[in-house]
Amino acid sequence: MKLEIIKNGEMECDKGFVTLGRNMGTPIKIPVYCFLVKHEKGNVLIDTGFSKQFETTWGKRLTAFKPILETDIPEYLKDTKIDFIINTHLHLDHADNNEKFPDATIIVQKEELQLAKNPPQYQKFAYADQFQEGNYQVIEGNYDLFGDCKIHIIKTPGHTKGHQSVLLDLGDKKIFIAGDACYTKENLNYSCLPGFFWNADEVMKQYEYIKNLDAEIIFGYQTIAQEQLQSFQKHE
Ligand SMILES: [Zn+2]
Repeated sequence: MKLEIIKNGEMECDKGFVTLGRNMGTPIKIPVYCFLVKHEKGNVLIDTGFSKQFETTWGKRLTAFKPILETDIPEYLKDTKIDFIINTHLHLDHADNNEKFPDATIIVQKEELQLAKNPPQYQKFAYADQFQEGNYQVIEGNYDLFGDCKIHIIKTPGHTKGHQSVLLDLGDKKIFIAGDACYTKENLNYSCLPGFFWNADEVMKQYEYIKNLDAEIIFGYQTIAQEQLQSFQKHE
């Protein structure tokens, strides 16, 4: 199984949106990643990132986050057949390109799909105005995609009601793709909430779960060091 980490771009925002209450008023740039996993039973894309049109859609509604596109994900993957998409959740910076992969089966939690179709007022800006139709496979709880424990979807509600993360087994190491279950290591170290969330108690539960995991963590909005990137991607 092979992992490729693709940097979709960055978002410029106030640090207070990432680590609520810490260093508010400090402008920062946070990375947005997508993950291509090539498994013998199919190619899996974990999150589809924000789209080329991001600035005219979400960007207009939410000026607090300024997107800077580096890689147009559908263009980058135009010669790669994507069999499955796993969305950690359906916020625009994780799912904005879903409709560009019409042949993929999109795996989401039942509660996330319900939320995306009818988001609560305080999360409306983070979901697409018009729900992106697609070939959705709805799951409830944890799910081992190919039945071999190599790509294990773990339900991690908190940031949103139907958030999920992915535990990858690369043989000599396990990698936990947290998504927005935990934005950065600082959030974990200081039990610091993200800038917005569905349920604070559930966010904290996921922090405890992540702290006790025997895996290397890829945080939602933390730059992956070059050395770590290489070690994650060297597997065949
Ligand atoms: Zn999110």
